[in-house]
Order: sequence, then C-alpha cells, then structure tokens
Amino acid sequence: MLKRKITKKIYVGNIAIGGGEPVVIQSMTNTLTKDVKSTVRQIKSLAKTGCEIIRVAVPDEESVFCLKEIIQKSPIPVIADIHFDYKLAIGAIKQGVHGIRINPGNIKNKNKIKEIINIAKEFNTTIRIGVNSGSLDIDIKNKFKNNIHLGLVESAINYIKFFEDNDFTNIKVSLKSADVITTILAYEKFSEMSDYPLHLGITEAGTELPGTVRSSIGIGYLLLKGIGDTIRVSLTAPPSREVVVAKEILKNVGMRDLGPVLISCPTCARRDIDVILLAHKVEKLLSFVKSPIKVAVMGCAVNGPGEAMDADIGIAGSNEGGIIFKKGRVLKKIKQQEDLIKEFLKEIKNLDKEWQMKKEKPV
Ligand code: SF4
Repeated sequence: MLKRKITKKIYVGNIAIGGGEPVVIQSMTNTLTKDVKSTVRQIKSLAKTGCEIIRVAVPDEESVFCLKEIIQKSPIPVIADIHFDYKLAIGAIKQGVHGIRINPGNIKNKNKIKEIINIAKEFNTTIRIGVNSGSLDIDIKNKFKNNIHLGLVESAINYIKFFEDNDFTNIKVSLKSADVITTILAYEKFSEMSDYPLHLGITEAGTELPGTVRSSIGIGYLLLKGIGDTIRVSLTAPPSREVVVAKEILKNVGMRDLGPVLISCPTCARRDIDVILLAHKVEKLLSFVKSPIKVAVMGCAVNGPGEAMDADIGIAGSNEGGIIFKKGRVLKKIKQQEDLIKEFLKEIKNLDKEWQMKKEKPV
C-alpha cells in the first residue's frame, strides 16, 4: 500500500488539496483569457474530461476584467497565472479567483509581494509559490551551479519564510524544471523539509509523446514515493490531452478510480485480428465507462486470455472470429468478427452497471 506524505490541507475553491486528500488534476487553458466565450467553452470541456482545477493566464488588465465572468461560468475553481506584474495579481484576487500562481522570482520587489499577500489574506485566496529553474535569483544560481535542485528548494524555502513572516500560510508550492531528474530531486528534498502541499509537474515537457513520457516518469515517480497533492501534465498539445494523460498516471499509480484501464497486446505472428485497429476502437467506446474495470484487447485466443488473466473483461481474435473472456476464462465465442465489438460492448455495459449499483448501494 502506497504511503503518502500528509501535507497541510488547503482549499482552492471547494477543492481540498493536501492533508491526504485525493491528488487533484489541473490543466491550463490555451485560449485568450479576454475571449471569455472560448475560455469558458474550453474550461467546460476540460472539466467534462476530468480536469478539477483550471489555471488561466492573466497577461494584461483586459484579462483581469474578464475573470469575474469566467469564474461565474466555470464549473471548476479558477486559478490566475501571473507573471511579473503584481498589479495583475491584486486585480485577479479582487475579481474573485480561487487561487493565484506567482513566481516570486519574477516579481522581485518584496513590498509588491507583500501587497499581494495582504489582498490574498483579505479574500482568503490561495497562493501557489511556483519556483522555476529558469528564473532563480542569480546568487542562488551561482551558489548551486551543479546542484540546481538545491537552488530550487532554497529559493522556495526563502519565499515561504517571507510569506510566513507576513502571516500567510495558505500556500502550495511547485519546484519545476524541464529536466526530469532535477525536478524529482527538488521535490524529494523539499518534501523532507516542509509540509506545504505540492503541485507536481515537469515544465516545458514537450510535444505529446515525449511530454507524456517525461511527465509520467517525473510525476509518476514522485507520486509513487508518496509526494504530491495536485498534478499538471504540461504538453504542447490540446489541453484535453493533458487531462487524459494525468488521469492515466493517477489510475496507473493506483491513486484514483478514474474510469477503465485499457490493456492491449503488442501483437505478433500469432494474431488473428487487427489489434491496433480494434484497440483504438475499444478505447473510444470506453469513454462512457465510469467504473475502474480493466479491459483487455488481445490478438489471439491461444495466449490472449492467459496473458490478460487479471483483466475484468477481454476480447481476443480467433481463427473462427473471436472470443470474449473474463479473468482469463472464455465467456463467449463469437463467429463473426463484425459481431465481436457489439457483444463486447454489451458485456462492458453490464459490468459498468453492476459497479454503479454496488457504488450506490454498498453492502
Ligand atoms: Fe501475440 Fe497473442 Fe500475445 Fe498478442 S496475445 S502478443 S497475438 S501471443
């Protein structure tokens, strides 16, 4: 059983973060924030995909003034992402955002940070101190030239001290780098030294495939070590992909029941069916399924059921059509491959219904 580090519990809107609460999925809009209609549309669509907190960039005053309407129409809490201009942070808090993310490294003036803290206190707004390897102070960079992870930690600890000296503890922290190892080392070290909740992510992780790999290694490793309270998979891809990957990470580290897990074989010369095509079809069909069932798509009836023994339900090609199996045992033989998906879907729907019923009426 995974042992999680229990951090201080805070709230972003109605979402609890830290204190052993489920790890929360975040993403970020890529619309213009001042285009309220498109931003709200994207937030609603991301929330439907599974995003639980949304961050929007606030690059100018016009965006600040659009926040109130966005917050009113958003089904999930909204965090304003602020860089450089402390007035935008103050404006966003006054518009009612549930949290702000600042990198104190790019708002250097301590008095200006103090002003943000005072307003955040007044509005009970959470602040994420987002330290980034690209914007560390020059003396910290020089001090930790060869151990930049320690520079990230020292920088975060220094900022926290400043926030605490100003009676502000409604904080979560991130220590991001585009380098996976640096990120891991920084979060591990910080976690030994502080109980503030942590937002995990690999920054500038890249396009969908390499970004997914980097994020899965970095975020997945930390989660398995019990570190992390919220996550964002940062991808150069539509933000819905970030949410899908985040859900996969959380399902696969065994932390959240966020729908089905699909497994499929790589195929080999024994295959009796086009597994690549079939697996993609099944993946799409599973979008309605809420239960955390394990679904298998396998190439042959000879090895498929055995190899996918732990799948709750599976499908495999055979020279006569295909088979449907449950926990390694054949349930049905289907003569025509065209009927295979139809029958499979019926069985999946039954399993999903059973799970929903059990959930509603626990024994
Ligand atoms: Fe090959 Fe069959 Fe295993 Fe798929 S299930 S990899 S087709 S042996």
